[in-house]
Amino acid sequence: MNDSLDNGKKRNARKEKATEKVLATKKKTAKKKAGPYPAPVPIPAAGASGEPPPARQTPTGAREEEQVPPSSLPHLLPLSILSLGAGVQSSAVLLMSCRGILPRLDAAIFADTQDEPAEVYENLQFLIAEAARHGIPVHVRTAGNIANDLQRSRLRQEEYSKVENGRWASIPFYTRDAATGHIGMLKRQCTKEYKIEVVLHFLRREILGLRRYQHAPKEHCIDHWYGMSADETNRVRISRHKWESNVYPLCGLPTDMLPKPMARWDCEDWLAEHYPGRKFPRSACRVCPYRSPSEWRHLKENCPDDWAKAVEMDRQIRQLGGMRGQTYLHPSCQPLDQADLRDLDDRRGQLSLFRLECSGVCGV
Ligand code: SF4
Repeated sequence: MNDSLDNGKKRNARKEKATEKVLATKKKTAKKKAGPYPAPVPIPAAGASGEPPPARQTPTGAREEEQVPPSSLPHLLPLSILSLGAGVQSSAVLLMSCRGILPRLDAAIFADTQDEPAEVYENLQFLIAEAARHGIPVHVRTAGNIANDLQRSRLRQEEYSKVENGRWASIPFYTRDAATGHIGMLKRQCTKEYKIEVVLHFLRREILGLRRYQHAPKEHCIDHWYGMSADETNRVRISRHKWESNVYPLCGLPTDMLPKPMARWDCEDWLAEHYPGRKFPRSACRVCPYRSPSEWRHLKENCPDDWAKAVEMDRQIRQLGGMRGQTYLHPSCQPLDQADLRDLDDRRGQLSLFRLECSGVCGV
């Protein structure tokens, strides 16, 4: 009996020793990777003309490591950085900050999928100029052209050897199973790849000045603003990073910055009152299937070039690699130019549920 107890104790001691050893090695490796924090650098500013620095991108869409400034821990005061989607809500947040209705932002970041409709880019240029007048730099960064990446992956499937660096841009297209006719939807990864990771990369590398794999500071140093409105509170998230705190000024989270929370229609009213005659479009890629019938109609009637591009893209995605069925942009799984674009309201007397948009991180 005593012998078996002794053996058990010995075994436990051996296990503890081994765990300690592993932990010590891990700590050592992590320390080596992180390195010391060197001297602070100031937050990168926009160009003298107020124009943002050009988007950084290699021909393959990968980010260039050499252009990253040396690592640093800028300061411990939280900086306020807005994820700008150039749609209604995030435009309202930026412009309210410019006018002093909301606290002043330190910068805004627009993650560009390079496939937004022309009216969104026109709005972005207006916002960049307006923000620059108030000393708020708007930075534009990209992980590549989402439509080109999609095209490349399609070509790679057809002529694998002829196309290099093709990658699969996973957009939530509608699918119809060839055998059963069942309609489904593909998994969405585009938001993560083309928006979330681009913004995170900007914050870590350019604002915090961290090197690749370097540990982020444990202190709260960035207030990350989002343009989600009070009708979208289901999209509110708590940041999982210690250095970052998510702020939703339109929802009054974490603290009230406005007299009352603002819904999308409140933002539309505010923008119409303060910027009469100016249109603030809904931001979403041209190849995005998350559009209401009225939004498709708007694209068709007001943006013929963007509509033509969407129709062409819809035609090209019909047979994607690895799919058993066919893929479509429209939920009816009809070619876009033949689909019924009457609103749900028109057809069933129901409200459309497609009001959400890419507020810097697609919430659609
Ligand atoms: S707008 Fe649509 S296609 Fe574009 S990144 Fe967001 S979910 Fe993907």
